[in-house]
Amino acid sequence: MFHKILPVGPLQCNCSILGDEQTHEAMVIDPGDQIDDILNILRSERLTLKQIVVTHAHIDHVGGAMKLKAATGAPILMNQDDYALLKMLDMQAAWVGMRPPGPVTVDEALSEGSVLKIGTIPSNVIHTPGHTEGSICLYFPEEKKLIAGDTLFAGSIGRTDLPGGNFEKIIRSLHTRLLALPDETQVMPGHGPETTIGDERETNPFLQK
Ligand SMILES: [Zn+2]
Repeated sequence: MFHKILPVGPLQCNCSILGDEQTHEAMVIDPGDQIDDILNILRSERLTLKQIVVTHAHIDHVGGAMKLKAATGAPILMNQDDYALLKMLDMQAAWVGMRPPGPVTVDEALSEGSVLKIGTIPSNVIHTPGHTEGSICLYFPEEKKLIAGDTLFAGSIGRTDLPGGNFEKIIRSLHTRLLALPDETQVMPGHGPETTIGDERETNPFLQK
């Protein structure tokens, strides 16, 4: 599986560009900004974008989704519990000093248990409320890889003091869902460096019993 991580925008959201090397079909996760750079990578890898997945409706993760959809025709997929946050993008833009991206429309709702495919490569949607109500992670069982959005970071977890955040819920999501994954699972957080489930289980201060 092709996987390029591109930190985008002023908050350096980790945008993932994933592709099936057999079929040349691709998925982009969290196109917060720098859509021209994302399009250049798709073009140079000869990938056809089939799906735009948004882990949650914070502007640094979703800000460029409509521009990417306009350029490629790919649908936008997100959990419906974040639709209310999506209606507040102008306010979010003002908080972080970004230009408001305009309205974003979701084409398909993702929920717990949804199975997505890039070509022949499957991935499972895990609903992990806490950072936001509609936060999801995407797990690729064949690659043992997790795209974690802002739920889990190397040595930390997502903040819960923004609208829709809930500390008890993120702790429950982490313990019951993410720590259920194998230790060798590679984790790509929404910001900052990569980690593994095993490393976080052992050393993350928020995940100790
Ligand atoms: Zn966030």
